[in-house]
Amino acid sequence: MTAQTIDGKAVAQQLRADVARRAALLAAAGHQPGLAVVLVGDDPASQVYVRNKVKACEENGLFSLLDRLPADVTEDALLARIAELNTDARIDGILVQLPLPAHIDSHKVLEAIAPDKDVDGFHVANAGALMTGKPLFRPCTPYGVMKLLEAYRVPLAGAEAVVIGRSNIVGKPMALLLLEAGATVTICHSKTRDLIAHTQRADIVVAAVGRAKMLKGEMLKPGAVVIDVGINRDENGKLCGDVDFDSVVNVASAATPVPGGVGPMTITMLLVNTLEAAERKRPSPQA
Ligand code: NDP
Repeated sequence: MTAQTIDGKAVAQQLRADVARRAALLAAAGHQPGLAVVLVGDDPASQVYVRNKVKACEENGLFSLLDRLPADVTEDALLARIAELNTDARIDGILVQLPLPAHIDSHKVLEAIAPDKDVDGFHVANAGALMTGKPLFRPCTPYGVMKLLEAYRVPLAGAEAVVIGRSNIVGKPMALLLLEAGATVTICHSKTRDLIAHTQRADIVVAAVGRAKMLKGEMLKPGAVVIDVGINRDENGKLCGDVDFDSVVNVASAATPVPGGVGPMTITMLLVNTLEAAERKRPSPQA
């Protein structure tokens, strides 16, 4: 068996075209959807992520406002800035790029974002809404994974799904979304006693660990669908995922590559969440 490659770039492109179309409808009706991105300090990786988010907005008809604050900004000043953005009518979504400098309480900052502008879905109100099956914003990375599974018509109802990783931004919301779709979900993590016993009976495995190529073909049931969320560097400094793609390709029925799998979906879902926040406020009859 040779696994089908799940093409995240192509799915992302289709979704972005739809975002651009709907954003244009809203703009024509008098409001261009707007995203505020707040970057504190000059962490190089964060600068790249932020630049890519702003660029994606520009390319798809969203207004973006990049707020750069110095690394030594006080927590109070950052909270005051968020309060301004919460009431800024041009802004439908607010994203604070993580990680924040150590002197700032990230939890407090995320809780200061108005839940109806929390397009990352990290506010406790949005985490709770997801938990109770009434999500307002789904966190972008797991939401992107769901869109990939949908695009490739992977059956979810009744499927055995294993999520490796239990972070608040990927693993836990991923498990909840799969559960919402009717899968039987197991969450594995660093304390899991026998990881292979779980992965070997899964129809779908989502790896969100942060360890280069840790998921191997022999850990899978033949025909499984494998989703690789990880972004790592291998021993040669080359970008790679949590999945050893070369070894799973002969066992899995479909798998996402890194790069070109989950990665392009994350920013796309940020655009979708921002657009939908704008649409909720100003419903467009033609959309
Ligand atoms: P975290 O470090 O917050 O979580 C990693 C999880 O993996 C933890 O729950 C940890 O368990 C678990 N884990 C670690 N080692 C093992 C092991 N040997 N066996 C089983 N589980 C293990 O990472 P994130 O969730 O933030 O991110 C995960 C990966 O996804 C990273 O590579 C990150 O760069 C990438 N990422 C990619 C995105 C994209 O757009 N493609 C977006 C966000 C993240 P425990 O809780 O017990 O410590």
